[in-house]
Amino acid sequence: MAKALKHTPVKLAIVGGGAAGMFAAAVAAERKLPCVVFERKARLGSKVLMTANGRCNFAKDISAEQFLSDLGPAAPFAAKAVRECPPRKIIAGFKSLGVGLKRMADGRMFPADGKAATIVHAFGDLLRDNGVPIVANCPVAGIQPQKTGFIVATPNFTLWAEHVLLATGGVSYPKLGSTGDGQRFASELGHALVPYRPGLIGLETTDPRVVRRAGERFEEAQARVLDLSGRVLYAYRGEVDCETFGLSGAAVYNCQRFVEHWLREHPGRMADLTLEASFGGETVRLEHIRPRPVKEAIVTIGGVSLDDVDPDTMESRKVPGLYFAGEVLDLDGPTGGYNLSLAFATARLAVTSICRKI
Ligand SMILES: Cc1cc2nc3c(=O)[nH]c(=O)nc-3n(C[C@H](O)[C@H](O)[C@H](O)COP(=O)(O)OP(=O)(O)OC[C@H]3O[C@@H](n4cnc5c(N)ncnc54)[C@H](O)[C@@H]3O)c2cc1C
Repeated sequence: MAKALKHTPVKLAIVGGGAAGMFAAAVAAERKLPCVVFERKARLGSKVLMTANGRCNFAKDISAEQFLSDLGPAAPFAAKAVRECPPRKIIAGFKSLGVGLKRMADGRMFPADGKAATIVHAFGDLLRDNGVPIVANCPVAGIQPQKTGFIVATPNFTLWAEHVLLATGGVSYPKLGSTGDGQRFASELGHALVPYRPGLIGLETTDPRVVRRAGERFEEAQARVLDLSGRVLYAYRGEVDCETFGLSGAAVYNCQRFVEHWLREHPGRMADLTLEASFGGETVRLEHIRPRPVKEAIVTIGGVSLDDVDPDTMESRKVPGLYFAGEVLDLDGPTGGYNLSLAFATARLAVTSICRKI
């Protein structure tokens, strides 16, 4: 006789099928942890497809310790995730999936064919081969904790899940699906949110030396952040690009990110800083540092407060069974593959923690 059907909760509902959500689902599949992925957009990894101008700089070939030292203030929070899933493990993981890889002289890693789609397809194939259900075109509308587990509400149905992983991303490039839903759910459930700021974004200037060179790229350039006394607080050698709005490029982005984090320690003191960019024989000083808006940023600074999340497991300190991974957290890195690697590493820690608990 057929066994009577019993309604059982899914072990893990992953909300968001971006970098963190895809990686989490891949780890869950490897560990035989039944899960379901909810994705607002019609397909997985919309933002990943846009990374590095469609080429996807998914990691940097450096040690976990170097990665953490480059990260800045959030390194203690990310330490366990990164040590358990260091960049070289991520690189080896893609190799084992048959993705050909290209290493740049500075260690940045890309798929060899220069196509971010290769990375997204590798995840898609792995999830298909393992029968992981993906519910696309399905924005999760709310998460309600129950006596055990959660009700995950969507516009058309609800699902009972024992654990929920919020992997809904930051708030930049909202057209790619990341609109701040995860932060809203977290806030409704009592988690503190750190205000959003743009991270890794261009700076506005009308300096004619920049504007008349709009469209020019300088790979051997430098940007520095100086304080009122002219002391160099941060310097980065790398690309500076002239744009119609001002300056962009890796060196400018990393300086801008440094400024945002410095302002957390020194609120309201933006006017104390000057950004100096040297490129093509010119040195341009921006006395007023004006970043472009967060919706254009590569990464969101701010999000779910790290104080409310256990760095050893990625589990909420407020709501047991609720986990976080990726940019939904107040966690960001410099340019060079750090942000995707952070999304992957935090996702892996969340899923392995759930597996250990079960
Ligand atoms: C232009 C650009 C270039 C970049 N280049 C690089 C790079 O080269 N290297 C690098 O390391 N990083 C890069 N980044 C940053 C990197 O893409 C992000 O940090 C990373 O994708 C964050 O992963 P995530 O999973 O947290 O968020 P996302 O990848 O943004 O994924 C979140 C997913 O959740 C879904 N979602 C949101 N709300 C809901 C909901 N309510 N229900 C269901 N689904 C939902 C979204 O549709 C989205 O697919 C770049 C970013 C941009 C914008």
